[in-house]
Amino acid sequence: MPDVQLTKGLHEACGVFGIYGHPHAGELVYYGLHALQHRGQESAGIVAVDQGKFTTHKGMGLVTDVFRNGDAFDLSGESAVGHVMYANGSPTITEVQPLVFKYRAGTIALAHNGALVNAAQIRRSLELQGSIFQTNSDIEVIAHLIARSPHDDLVSALRHALGVIEGSYALLVLAENKLIACLDPQGLRPLALGKVGGSYCFASETCAFDLIEAEYIRHVEPGEMVVVGQDQLRSLKIGEPSPAFCSFEYIYFARPDSNLTSNTSVHQIRRKLGKQLAAESPVEADLVLGVPDSSLSAAIGYAEALSIPFEMGLVKNRYVGRTFIQGKQESRTRDVKLKLSVVRKVVEGKTVVMVDDSLIRGTTSRRIVRLLRDAGVKAVHVRISSPPVAHPCFYGIDISSHDELIVTHKSVAEIQSYIGADSLEFLTIDGLVRAIRGTNDNHGLCLACFNGKYPTTIDFQTEEAQNE
Ligand code: AMP
Ligand code: SF4
Repeated sequence: MPDVQLTKGLHEACGVFGIYGHPHAGELVYYGLHALQHRGQESAGIVAVDQGKFTTHKGMGLVTDVFRNGDAFDLSGESAVGHVMYANGSPTITEVQPLVFKYRAGTIALAHNGALVNAAQIRRSLELQGSIFQTNSDIEVIAHLIARSPHDDLVSALRHALGVIEGSYALLVLAENKLIACLDPQGLRPLALGKVGGSYCFASETCAFDLIEAEYIRHVEPGEMVVVGQDQLRSLKIGEPSPAFCSFEYIYFARPDSNLTSNTSVHQIRRKLGKQLAAESPVEADLVLGVPDSSLSAAIGYAEALSIPFEMGLVKNRYVGRTFIQGKQESRTRDVKLKLSVVRKVVEGKTVVMVDDSLIRGTTSRRIVRLLRDAGVKAVHVRISSPPVAHPCFYGIDISSHDELIVTHKSVAEIQSYIGADSLEFLTIDGLVRAIRGTNDNHGLCLACFNGKYPTTIDFQTEEAQNE
């Protein structure tokens, strides 16, 4: 990897849901998006198709905000796709997915989870040829490639487009008479196939199937395109598989009740991460606490392995959204107290282990350690159930520039002192692999934000220039 300080250029990790041939398609997508809400809170949208007529309802905010009048129930059509967006930037309403495009062979709606690493180059080359773009979204690039393909048939045109793009894409394409799901050859993001009442559906995570009582069939494979239409289901190869599934989905992003690529729940894997962390970095303590919600499973595993009681010492206020606006009188302590509070009676006078799933800028750990000290803990040992995040992510998870990552500037001892902990330890990369895979073989996992080994080519110069 070139020795450059990178800033991540691509911004979205989202949730997608689609269903083909169901009388209540819009309604089921609405419920599916509810289950995927943790994957994106910036915007939500559904597009349904009824005998060639596409209807869209979308907006900024949570699924409940966007569909507050039961609008999803009125979307007529037997097939629909939906999307929830997580973005680090300020997406505009024109960028809210799914996006609908009309081209010479018909109309299509696209919903994408991931980030392309060569979108900027393709965009520039298309612009030089006269293309006009309305949004900054990667899927507009894909739509242009489909429209410019020499093939009239959608499946062939899509295969042509996917042959040009690189990066992560769990992509749903809805046409009048088919629903197509595509996964990049690395299979960086999850995409599962299910069936409800005889209709096939796709979701970023299996927790969406549980909500609508769909049967889980399997995960879409890296480099696979699944086409669902009147003539049932077809599987096509779109690229040479070279699996590199995002390990951060296990660590933080996915919901604990989802199964990602295997039959094991995310909760079970996180528990193993906690056990592995305990084996690598034990400590004597009275209690183990997890930072709610994403670290609770790892904290349970850590506590179990060392036979230390797991306690609910931190409580989350789940009604403070990501878009919470700071008051005039700036108070960082109050900001964190709005989101998290300490059960003083549980922690007072105790030596506690605080388990968090990751440490990126160090802000969260620093604030929670301060809260715990204010509540009278005797000592606080911080244990992180992932290795130090040392590199940015270009595949759609909001892990920032080298500059913003605390390990770029500080040693572990310096971070410990910065966050004010009595001790600080991270899970090792080998331990992460062992907990996820059950072996030391890291084949098939992306670990790039920990070890800098990116599973696709990255044009570092362009990524850097893009963010200046
Ligand atoms: P930091 O405060 O920058 O050290 O970030 C670590 C905290 O952010 C942990 O508590 C994680 O649970 C949380 N976290 C990890 N990944 C993400 C992400 N992609 N978006 C938002 N929060 C995250
Ligand atoms: Fe996931 Fe990290 Fe790879 Fe990004 S770089 S896909 S966050 S493992």
